[in-house]
Amino acid sequence: QTTLKSNTKDPYPDWKPGEPVPYAALCTTFSLIEMTTKRLIMTSHCSLFLRQVLRLTPDDLLPTVLLMINKLAADYAGVELGIGESLIMKAIGETTGRSLAVIKQDQKEIGDLGLVAVKSRANQPTMFKPKPLTVRGVHKGLLDIATVTGNGAQQRKVDGIKKLLSAADGHASGKVDIAKDKGGASEAKYIVRFLEGKLRLGLAEKTVLVALAQAMVCHETETKGSGKVPSTEKLAEGESILKSVYSSLPSYEVIIPAMLKDGFSNLKENCKLQPGVPLKPMLAKPTKAITEVLDRFEGQTFTCEYKYDGERAQIHYVAKDSSQQYQGTVPSKTSTGGLAAIFSRNSEDLSKKYPDILSKLNTWVKPDTKSFVLDCETVAWDLVEKKVLPFQQLMTRKKKDVKIEDVKIKVCVFAFDLLFLNGEAVVEKSLRERRELLHSAFVPVEGEFQFATSMNGQEIDEIQTFLDESVKASCEGLMVKMLDGSESGYEPSKRSRNWLKIKKDYLSGIGDSLDLVVLGAYYGRGKRTSVYGAFLLACYNPSTETYETICNIGTGFSESVLEELHSQLSSIVIDRPKPFYSHSSGNQHQPDVWFECKYVWEVKTADLTLSPRYKAGWKEGVDGSGEKGISLRFPRFIKVREDKKPDMATSARQVAEMYRKQESVAKSKGPAVDDDF
Ligand code: ATP
Repeated sequence: QTTLKSNTKDPYPDWKPGEPVPYAALCTTFSLIEMTTKRLIMTSHCSLFLRQVLRLTPDDLLPTVLLMINKLAADYAGVELGIGESLIMKAIGETTGRSLAVIKQDQKEIGDLGLVAVKSRANQPTMFKPKPLTVRGVHKGLLDIATVTGNGAQQRKVDGIKKLLSAADGHASGKVDIAKDKGGASEAKYIVRFLEGKLRLGLAEKTVLVALAQAMVCHETETKGSGKVPSTEKLAEGESILKSVYSSLPSYEVIIPAMLKDGFSNLKENCKLQPGVPLKPMLAKPTKAITEVLDRFEGQTFTCEYKYDGERAQIHYVAKDSSQQYQGTVPSKTSTGGLAAIFSRNSEDLSKKYPDILSKLNTWVKPDTKSFVLDCETVAWDLVEKKVLPFQQLMTRKKKDVKIEDVKIKVCVFAFDLLFLNGEAVVEKSLRERRELLHSAFVPVEGEFQFATSMNGQEIDEIQTFLDESVKASCEGLMVKMLDGSESGYEPSKRSRNWLKIKKDYLSGIGDSLDLVVLGAYYGRGKRTSVYGAFLLACYNPSTETYETICNIGTGFSESVLEELHSQLSSIVIDRPKPFYSHSSGNQHQPDVWFECKYVWEVKTADLTLSPRYKAGWKEGVDGSGEKGISLRFPRFIKVREDKKPDMATSARQVAEMYRKQESVAKSKGPAVDDDF
């Protein structure tokens, strides 16, 4: 903002009011952005340029913003350039008269086709000066390239690129030092990079959104005659309005015209969630244990749902008699003449993949349900056994142009949220209210359309049982969601703490359980203050006769078990660890209390990992340096092994074997854990 305020003089070449925005001016902005890594400066370059567009040629604001975010249209419009590197190289070669072999060699050396294009043009001075490119012209040219289909499409795409490239300027000096050309304002460079899908500016879409808000606020302040720069509060207010509007209606095609018409006043009113424009879905945060869920939601009501293992689907629908208003925004027609579409997690149109769902939509709604947006999971369904099939089955379905009569893998839609109903967005209502509306507006049909199985119990035992049931029902685990109050509203595009996921893989992991000795404990927090909340476990090393620590565990215990363990273990507390306990010496890793080694517990784990904090198997040669031991990820208590003595616990060697086995499997299959961790 400092830059924005101090820099009132426009650094960009002017153009006459009403004239199309010169593409060269946008490229100048790009090169200024390319020369910095500072987000504030990038934002300020963007917003200064957008201000100028607003002042001189507001009609070009939409294509300017789209070119800035390297898109030709919103994701759901399905516009794809469909151009590979080889086509671009061919086009560069044909425009500049250089051979493909030379261009390939350059690409190998430079690694940026944009710069290869600049170099190629610099070598081949143009004979005549072409008509300057404009932002709207480049946008249209690229759109034409994307929409070419049919016979000879590839060559026509190459021709389209050549047309743009031969109109692009080469390089100001006619000569180019590639090594130093980070900021060269070459049009050819940015056209080629756009075609490749990477402008290489470090400019995130979020930054452009913020810049657009700033530009709009500044423009409104200027045009209202005060001539002053807007206050920081005004800028922040504009940003927050635009961000919130965009998260409900991620479509510049709708928002920009509305903003140009009325500015920020009524933008929220005029640009609301609407059928046909997919929202970025709400996402969940991962958790490692039910106790973590309980800690998070302490004092608040939550609900658990099965986490179905299929494909996310946002279903948009408008009945025939209400469809007039949404004509053109919702792509497909239903069998009864209404409009409908199914969008993926990434807002791609899946309607051609699921015609079987679209054809039945209107049989799942009550008569007075006229329009809706649903959040669902589509899951492969076994018609004979009447149950959910594994995710892999769903993946065998064709992705495009599916014909209903050819569908072999049937799907069942499991609906878990409702975002829009009968002309009104309901995202701000509580989850409890949305769920009630969902249940009142639809009629479930087994194997076709069902509500996600849910349970509102708040106790650890109930959640554990529900989790086990979900796994038996072939689900991935549970989703736990805030149920009441404003925090339980639907938060588009956010990975929110109000939705937590518990995956079975984290809990039941490597299959084999381990039998481990309890060496210490940590005092409980929250609901567990009167008992121990977590424990330090160890395996046994018979050759050194030591107990080697392996993990802390806080999952898998019911309240009553925790109480029982507390009374059992309190009687064997010792004031310092025994000399034959092999544990980390770091202060922060000491348990609150140490125990005699007496009890053996059966424990399951998601997988094993190396950790400097634990000692299990540290002398077994799994870690070259010998500094790390093996540790359990997401261990879960199964039961006390009354029948085992401590020296009958799983040995350090066994643990090392398990680790090696897992590593060799992982190498052949790739990692099996969530990338969120
Ligand atoms: P992953 O699907 O691998 O867990 P993700 O990043 O795709 O990760 P998350 O937010 O982590 O998504 O998990 C939520 C996903 O689980 C949703 O995208 C949805 O596809 C799926 N899902 C299945 N059942 C439900 C449910 N009852 N509520 C919400 N999401 C569900």
